[in-house]
Amino acid sequence: MIEQVKHGEISCIVVKDLSRFGRDYLEVGDYLEHIFPFLGVRFVAVNDHYDSMKHSGKTIGMDVAFKNLIYDYYCKDLSKKVKSAMGMKQREARYVSCAPYGYQICPTEKHQLVIDQEAAVIVRRIFLDVIAGKTTSQIAKELNSESVATPAEHKSIRRRADRKAPQWTHHMILNIIDNLKYTGTMVNHTRESRHIRDGNQRRVPKEEWYLRENAHEAIVTLEEFDLAQEAISRRRKTVRSQHDQSDRIYFCGHCGRKLEKANGTSFSCPSHRYHSGSPCEEVRWRKDALEDAVFEALKVQIEVVRLESTNAKSTAQNKGSSLQCQLTTLRTQYDACGREKLAQYEAFREGRITDEEFLSSRDQLTLQQNLLKEQIAECEKQQEANQQTMETSDERQRSVDHFIRLTEKQLREHLYDAIERIVVYGPSEIEIVWKFQDTSASA
Ligand SMILES: [Zn+2]
Repeated sequence: MIEQVKHGEISCIVVKDLSRFGRDYLEVGDYLEHIFPFLGVRFVAVNDHYDSMKHSGKTIGMDVAFKNLIYDYYCKDLSKKVKSAMGMKQREARYVSCAPYGYQICPTEKHQLVIDQEAAVIVRRIFLDVIAGKTTSQIAKELNSESVATPAEHKSIRRRADRKAPQWTHHMILNIIDNLKYTGTMVNHTRESRHIRDGNQRRVPKEEWYLRENAHEAIVTLEEFDLAQEAISRRRKTVRSQHDQSDRIYFCGHCGRKLEKANGTSFSCPSHRYHSGSPCEEVRWRKDALEDAVFEALKVQIEVVRLESTNAKSTAQNKGSSLQCQLTTLRTQYDACGREKLAQYEAFREGRITDEEFLSSRDQLTLQQNLLKEQIAECEKQQEANQQTMETSDERQRSVDHFIRLTEKQLREHLYDAIERIVVYGPSEIEIVWKFQDTSASA
């Protein structure tokens, strides 16, 4: 547009307000005060009541100048102001995004937490139970059996995607035990995103959290909080030290969850702890009993694979040698036809047989040869297929060879090397998916 102005194509410019014309005060001022008057262009800003025709002098009104300045300032600073206000609230730990279970946001002061009596009783009970030595699962089960509303239910929020019936889980108990806010301390800046509305937040290390003690009424004392943390971390340590190969291959046949190992000695489906009367309760094995069963199954499976592959191989070998015999016979017959043809020709040349006799015998031999050729081709095809079968059974045999060579003790140690996955249905039914074969066996 400015180009058109310079070329004298435009003699009057009308804008709604000055901010529409340009956001930079200096630039706008330059146009209004120097460029447009020089080019003889009339400039009208409707909302700002500015018309260059009415300003006969060379300067524009003070109000216009101020307005320009304010636009400039306002635009550049607005976003920075919003961000820093939020940052300040966080740094002082005065920012409340949502109330944790046990609290609610004060109806008159939106950044103040106040006790939610009904839920606070439950929170306090959870802390005291943990300190008393109850496991988080035990606590969850008790809350479920008493039909205590879960935090989400209590807030009457139900996620649409969550089709499972709401239940207390040990994770929920852990989350409560971990939450410093229950000691009356406000915690801000535990997570951080690089930009406003950035979905990918990162966890902020504890040292960088913004804390404010006595920010709201405590549900537990700091001492109780520490005791509960201690009780939990003691238990977590024992669970962590027992991680081994067996932890990742046992699954529940009813709900599909990974089985949990209790005290390192027994497996069970985690769901049974949260609901009574579900088939998952049946999924409960002593570790050694389960491994015995799997071990026996492995021995049987190795033997089955070994026998199957040996049988398959010897069948293929037998078939191979009979095909070889057949092929030799056919080739001999074919060669014999050729020799006979030659003999007939010599007999004809020596005048021992007539033209007709020679020609008819030659045609017959050719016919026979063509037939034999077809049979040979068919035989060779079968031989090739048989070779393939032999290679496959060889491969299967090699896959169990490694296990066959192990002693019973070594085999037990390498039990999990042979297993892809074990699905447990109940006390007498497990399904094992082997690594060395695509079929599965039940025990
Ligand atoms: Zn289950």
